[in-house]
Amino acid sequence: MPELIDTDKFSEAMRRKGVDLDRQRILISKLAGSEQEKDITKQPNCGGYGRIRHFRRRTTAGWPANPLPNDPAHKALGLPTTDVMHAQVFQNAVCNWRCWYCFVPFALLAGDEQNAGWLSAKELLDLYLAEPDSERAAMIDLTGGQPDLVPEWVPWMMSELRRRGLEGKVYLWSDDNLSNDYFWQHLTDADRELVATFRGYGRVACFKGFDADSFSYNTKAAPELFDRQFDLFARLLALGIDLYAYTTFTATRSDNIGDSMARFVDRLQSLEPNLPLRTVPLEVYVAGVVKERAEKQSFLPQANESLLHQRLAIDAWCRELEHRFSSDERAQSIADVPLAAASRR
Ligand code: SF4
Repeated sequence: MPELIDTDKFSEAMRRKGVDLDRQRILISKLAGSEQEKDITKQPNCGGYGRIRHFRRRTTAGWPANPLPNDPAHKALGLPTTDVMHAQVFQNAVCNWRCWYCFVPFALLAGDEQNAGWLSAKELLDLYLAEPDSERAAMIDLTGGQPDLVPEWVPWMMSELRRRGLEGKVYLWSDDNLSNDYFWQHLTDADRELVATFRGYGRVACFKGFDADSFSYNTKAAPELFDRQFDLFARLLALGIDLYAYTTFTATRSDNIGDSMARFVDRLQSLEPNLPLRTVPLEVYVAGVVKERAEKQSFLPQANESLLHQRLAIDAWCRELEHRFSSDERAQSIADVPLAAASRR
């Protein structure tokens, strides 16, 4: 059994490395010249600190389509939806977990200033706006790393977008690995109100596994933290944010996957009856940086086996959704799936 991460301790250490509160700067990964650069189809932009990512609805055969973040972004921007949408991506340079399938090289998750630079929200937007009009994306994706180790990043970006009259004109999307409560520990009520009410913001939080075992296998965090993911998601739901979920289904075991998946979907529905319809399973695959890492750690056979289990898991997921929701409900746009928690806000 590999050594597990002490998530709370490691989160604190990574936060210290990832934010400069006095000058309101975030440590942003420098992609130009990094190991990640070779896995990126287009050259890094924004002075080497950003990249353009194409979000595609289409997935591999037998895997559910991925409408995130395209559908929420198009809806918020009042644009017709498309199957491919490009986004301006910035990655913060810290993460508190080490998912074996992470496509970001671990060197870009460690808060190492040699692979990163200190940038404020103003400087990030200056870089974004300096890109040629024809190439500038209508969406900015704040990702990582784990953006929520520095929860200030999102409201800082929002304040800057608002100051420049860009609220509602540029879509802001951020992700969260559901590992800590820094959003409540470190933000003020006013910050949280800004995040909850900003026009043109969507957030996705990732459940990394369908049970405690698969969660721990995927993240190297203690299995008990699987439950924390649900508690944190419930707190985000209560804020009324336009909230979505990802999930990953790689696992070491294949026994009782049907039962485990049914319990997982039960738990999602205990938070919000429609949450499975706002949840997108992400297919894990082994290529590029992930393959090199797995080979280096002699982990490739286990990784490949867990990919077979993820196929069983996605079949079980699809069966659960077919059983619990009508075809009309499943066919609606993910951005139109109502959340009861939001209407109670
Ligand atoms: S939480 Fe995200 S950024 Fe961190 S290791 Fe896992 S996949 Fe990578």
